[in-house]
Amino acid sequence: MAAGVYLHIPFCKSRCSYCDFATDVYRSAAGVERYVEALASEIQNSKVENQDPVETVYFGGGTPSLLVPRQVEKIITAVRERFDVISDAEITMEMNPATVTAGTLSAYRELGVNRASFGVQTFDDRALRLLARGHDANDARETFRLLREAGFANISFDLIAGLPGQTLHDWERNLEEAIAMPPDHISLYLLEVHEGTPLAEQIRSKRQPEPDDVLAAEMYELMLERLAATGYEQYEISNFAMPGFEARHNSKYWTLDPVYGFGVSAHSFDGRERYANERDTAKYVSAIESSGSAEVMRENTDAASEYVFLGLRLEKGVVLEVYRERFQRNLLDQYGTEVDELRNAGLIEIADGRMKLTRKGKLFSNEVFQVFI
Ligand code: SF4
Repeated sequence: MAAGVYLHIPFCKSRCSYCDFATDVYRSAAGVERYVEALASEIQNSKVENQDPVETVYFGGGTPSLLVPRQVEKIITAVRERFDVISDAEITMEMNPATVTAGTLSAYRELGVNRASFGVQTFDDRALRLLARGHDANDARETFRLLREAGFANISFDLIAGLPGQTLHDWERNLEEAIAMPPDHISLYLLEVHEGTPLAEQIRSKRQPEPDDVLAAEMYELMLERLAATGYEQYEISNFAMPGFEARHNSKYWTLDPVYGFGVSAHSFDGRERYANERDTAKYVSAIESSGSAEVMRENTDAASEYVFLGLRLEKGVVLEVYRERFQRNLLDQYGTEVDELRNAGLIEIADGRMKLTRKGKLFSNEVFQVFI
């Protein structure tokens, strides 16, 4: 089964008010250099037994576009030396507005980066300030122009809906500007408020309104309509692509293909087990330097259960025959009562040998997934 490689770059220019990821503010070039050395060393010395070709490489973060091309080259070279990376691999880098120049973008392209996952989030300057994103909407427009000029023919936008104080009209304007640019792929995130973040504190102290779930659902519905009308295909609950531009790397998570993660807090799945690295950057670097490994968790998975609730995220759903071949079980026998209840509630449908979420099911997807966990 073809595999993917995930590389976590934890540095950001500043910390956004809603962020709960394993990130660090970019403090010193020397610190970043030491991290890159540790990451390359982890890849080179990895004991992964994978013999399958690697068809996707993904730089996530954090803000990987803060790396200089020489550092990206070091990491990509380590991946190519350690794994059999196919010639037309999808190589994605997450990028944030105002973190790149024409020069760095063309250097990334020369190193083989052929897809940009671009953190636009919103074109509303008021909301960007509220989120402490550290850039404005014009930065996003300008960076998009630079990406196209540098030859990026596969650009994905991250957009966030359900922001405090955001109206349906605000969201509509935002969506229209995004569609008009236009990116080749769009990932939608509904704002989640995580305990311990500045945004959670602002909401608790009533300086910002509580997120409105009903309004967020209306924003989602509006997005489904607008994107379908402009030629984007929804292939996953939160992901939309022009034909042929589905994210190959992200799709690996939903079909349970192996993905090997490297770097601080990186998670891996080798087809049998899940394992993860240390979440603290300084501890990660020390662990790699002293022992070559920063692994802190390893567990067996219930792959059959995961295959169902991850597969339900996909527009094509879970193919019942593929499930039977892969796990030697009949899904409808195994979950007969639960499936009947979900069908009666109008949350899933079974047709053409597939089990899929209905439109209503997409709005209540977490409740559906719980049934199969
Ligand atoms: S850019 Fe992304 S990873 Fe970095 S602080 Fe903001 S939300 Fe977190």
